[in-house]
Amino acid sequence: MRRLDDFVWVEGVNEYHHCDDVSCCLECEEYCLSEDMHHSELTDEYYCCDSCLDKAEQQYKEDHWAYSEYDDEYFEDEDDVVEYHKWLPKPRRYEGCTISRNSLSYKIENGEFHEIDGKFYNAINKRARLPYKTRLLRSSSMRNAA
Ligand SMILES: [Zn+2]
Repeated sequence: MRRLDDFVWVEGVNEYHHCDDVSCCLECEEYCLSEDMHHSELTDEYYCCDSCLDKAEQQYKEDHWAYSEYDDEYFEDEDDVVEYHKWLPKPRRYEGCTISRNSLSYKIENGEFHEIDGKFYNAINKRARLPYKTRLLRSSSMRNAA
């Protein structure tokens, strides 16, 4: 027996449907006909529309994937994202930042990024082949200690 309680209003089609035939979108929590749901291979869940699916996949990447600030992109394998020292000319210091391994090797080949002692920099003192301020910092901290 089908009872009225078992029917839910489906906004997208403006009809009541039996709850066996509808699913709730995990993203917007609207009911939708099961056959109209969009499956995400990433989250392995179903969503009412592409925009909910995109939102859910984006959230999944933010939660589980590694983010490259340089590329403004998420990478499934955290080994594909590397930390580098980003030079900030205004406060004149380096800031920890992330870049994808692909972009990094491209930039290093082009001479735009530099590897020194296994660390990566987007700007260095080219004459000294050293990161900016390193020597200065070391000598001044030694002076302070003395
Ligand atoms: Zn939805």
